[in-house]
Order: sequence, then C-alpha cells, then structure tokens
Amino acid sequence: MINASEDFIKNYPMIFAQSRENPLGVHYWGIECGSGWFGLLEALCERVQAHVDHQKIEQVVFKQVKEKFGDLRIYYSGGDEYINAAIDMAEAFSAIVCENCGAPGVKQRLKGGWIKTVCQACISEFESRV
Ligand SMILES: [Zn+2]
Repeated sequence: MINASEDFIKNYPMIFAQSRENPLGVHYWGIECGSGWFGLLEALCERVQAHVDHQKIEQVVFKQVKEKFGDLRIYYSGGDEYINAAIDMAEAFSAIVCENCGAPGVKQRLKGGWIKTVCQACISEFESRV
C-alpha cells in the first residue's frame, strides 16, 4: 500500500483557498475522493502552483475535487492551456490508480453497479460498503 495523507493540502493554500464555501479550519473541504489519489493530486498541485508563480497568471483555485464514474474530476477556476492539460492528464491517469490505496488499479463495475477504479485488494472493501 502506498501511504498518502491530505497533509499536502496545507502546502497549497492558494489552490485550496479559503472562501465562504471553504470555511477556515476545514482546509481540505471539497476533496471528495479516496486517499489513493492524494499522491496524484499532490504532484498536480506542485506543478500547477509552480506554473502560476512563474508565469504570473491568474491563481488556479480548486473548487471541488471528486470521484465520478471511476475518474478523478477537478472543478477549478483560473489557469491556462498548460494548467488545463495538466489537470486533464491527472484526471486521465486516475483511471489506472486505485482510489483507495494508490496501487495500480483497473476501472470496473463493482457489485451494486458502482464504477470505481480500484486494485484487486480493494475491490472487497469497496463492495462491502454498498
Ligand atoms: Zn487498492
């Protein structure tokens, strides 16, 4: 299992900006996916913020990060073509990373009809939730 925590979020306060929708103290509000994708998100945030800082473009703010039909989905404001492409790549890559643990995964339909990207070891854990 690849360990990942939401601690990285505090390193990107501009991307996960405080707002009325994101109350102070709830620093990872809006992240609605399993921790298996946190490593992918961290790599994305590092590149997004570096690009914003170097190119001096409008700050990118992640409004919502969620899982939908087995894919990572990020709703955001700001950015440019580079940012759009980086986020698109992260979303595409999520389809081969277990949302639960970060190991290589396969997008599949689980018992109960849920479409999830999970590894073999995590299938039973996901299916026990439905
Ligand atoms: Zn897994």
